[in-house]
Amino acid sequence: MTDDCLFCRIAAGTIPATIVHSDDEVVAFRDINPQAPTHVLVVPREHIVSAAELTPAQDHLWGRLLHVAQSIADDEGQTDAGYRLVTNVGRNGGQTVPHLHLHLLAGRRMTWPPG
Ligand code: AMP
Ligand code: ZN
Repeated sequence: MTDDCLFCRIAAGTIPATIVHSDDEVVAFRDINPQAPTHVLVVPREHIVSAAELTPAQDHLWGRLLHVAQSIADDEGQTDAGYRLVTNVGRNGGQTVPHLHLHLLAGRRMTWPPG
């Protein structure tokens, strides 16, 4: 937990968010500025800056983020239609919050290439 990190504070419950999943390792909440009908952020409780910082010892955690995203997509009835999972890394990746998060975007047809 890092006091000045927005997502650490959301995970700790000191900043409000619409939580859709919470366990001892992973928290998921609705994006405050949704880019699709379903836009959920899936984050580890542990403060990891981005996917660029993940180590092999954290393979399990990365897998957990994916499985939580998968299960939320299922709960929201989006599995058949499909969805997009994105993690932005650093400046060129468009990352604005330096705490690893997976975007789950669903409920509309996505375009490619991304902007
Ligand atoms: P990224 O640009 O990939 O770092 O994604 C950060 C995301 O966090 C953006 O989609 C923001 O809309 C979202 N966001 C920022 N502040 C909050 C907040 N307080 N609660 C929920 N989502 C937020
Ligand atoms: Zn953090």
